[in-house]
Amino acid sequence: MEARLFSFKEEVVPPAILYRFIATFISIWKLRVSAKSSRLMIFTDSADVKIDGDHDMRFDIQRNRFIVSLIHKDNKSSIIPTIASTAQECLTHAITNISNFYFSVSGDSACNRDLPFTIQIGIPCGTDLCFFDHTLSAKEWICPEHKTKHKTNDVSIWFADKLHTKDDRCTENCPGLDKVWLDRQPEDKHLGRLAAKLTNEDTRKIYIRLQEVDPALQWNIINESSKRGGFDIKINALYDWKKSSVFASFKQLQQSLNDEDIDIHKLCQISREVKKEFNQPREKLQLRPSISNTQKLPDHIGNQTFQLGIELGLSVVEMQQIENDHVTNLRSQTEEVLNKWRILPEATYEVLAKALHRLQLSSVLSYLTYEEDLEEQMEVGLAEKVKEGPQEQVEVGLKEEVANRIIHDIQNSQILDYMITHLVISSDDRRRIEQHAGQDDQNRALLREVIKRGEPTYTLFIDALRTVDTQI
Ligand SMILES: [Zn+2]
Ligand SMILES: [Zn+2]
Repeated sequence: MEARLFSFKEEVVPPAILYRFIATFISIWKLRVSAKSSRLMIFTDSADVKIDGDHDMRFDIQRNRFIVSLIHKDNKSSIIPTIASTAQECLTHAITNISNFYFSVSGDSACNRDLPFTIQIGIPCGTDLCFFDHTLSAKEWICPEHKTKHKTNDVSIWFADKLHTKDDRCTENCPGLDKVWLDRQPEDKHLGRLAAKLTNEDTRKIYIRLQEVDPALQWNIINESSKRGGFDIKINALYDWKKSSVFASFKQLQQSLNDEDIDIHKLCQISREVKKEFNQPREKLQLRPSISNTQKLPDHIGNQTFQLGIELGLSVVEMQQIENDHVTNLRSQTEEVLNKWRILPEATYEVLAKALHRLQLSSVLSYLTYEEDLEEQMEVGLAEKVKEGPQEQVEVGLKEEVANRIIHDIQNSQILDYMITHLVISSDDRRRIEQHAGQDDQNRALLREVIKRGEPTYTLFIDALRTVDTQI
């Protein structure tokens, strides 16, 4: 489940306006029908709508808050990102229009006025939902109230790449990015995409406008220190602006493009998905690429390594380090980029394929076999998990060969009991797992299920391993 909140700046919001939101949204999407009572899912302060066969959305009114949750029928890691980002845009647009109508008191033009609400992203924290501002760009957030650390990559899905448009063109009356996006900080990935769409000269012009201290001198220094010229200079300049600003925003980027008469719709383009046609089923695309698959790629990537690394989600700083570690060896740079990326929680064949498409390296896709490496996936996943968890609860050495030991050594019946009690798997799932003949195969099926589902099944599984008497 994902939640998002429109929190109104006025302490007291006229109830009429909140109900108007619900009325509008149930005219955009279809009300959900309860499977049990076959009644429409609309109540005094909430309503459920159906987005498509897999996704539902719920609206809740709580005082001056309007809470939106997006739910996938299986689990949250299956939410299709473009569905979340499209719903976000649509909701923000409608809420802005309705609010402008209700709150309009002064004569200033609608686009300059501040939105009468703030947008926050909800994250399950203990038994509650806690909220952080949508402009937060860090990968981690510590809830000030409960002092709990959360990864933010799951919830950033509301700002995932937007849907692809025909020939990557904006609509005729496209005003550029909306206000919610303009207030955000570009991720390194966005700077990489923009760098690829600008000439060296255009980058220099906007850098001179954006950078506050000694821009001309800084530009020369960046030129001298960028080893490979071309893309390196452009990304280093854009990143230099981001790191030296207190809060670098898309708004500042758009302003500088505007001032230099450069098409601002380049920003729309970098917020959209690339056109993609996959000839693989979705389950395969969701797998973590195997080592043997990524090892085939460095021979075909050439000098686009820096760009590929950022597009895959590595930071500019990580890329600068990799570049320094292998100064003259481009192939080892590419290898290190892929090795570093492959163990991130979000690494899948789909992410890799999209990145290659965007870099116009689609021909490289033919070297992929989309195989899975189950033991290794589990090891990587568990290692991640162990790093997050409280150390004293975990035996040292869990990372090594842990998946193998799980497969060969555990008695899964107690683990399954535990998981059923905690409602993360159903008795149907259990039957499916237990239909495999041997203990090893059952354990393999269980692991596959856990990997496929992600959170919260993962955490519960680890808890089960710790609680139930095993030697792991
Ligand atoms: Zn909290
Ligand atoms: Zn546009």
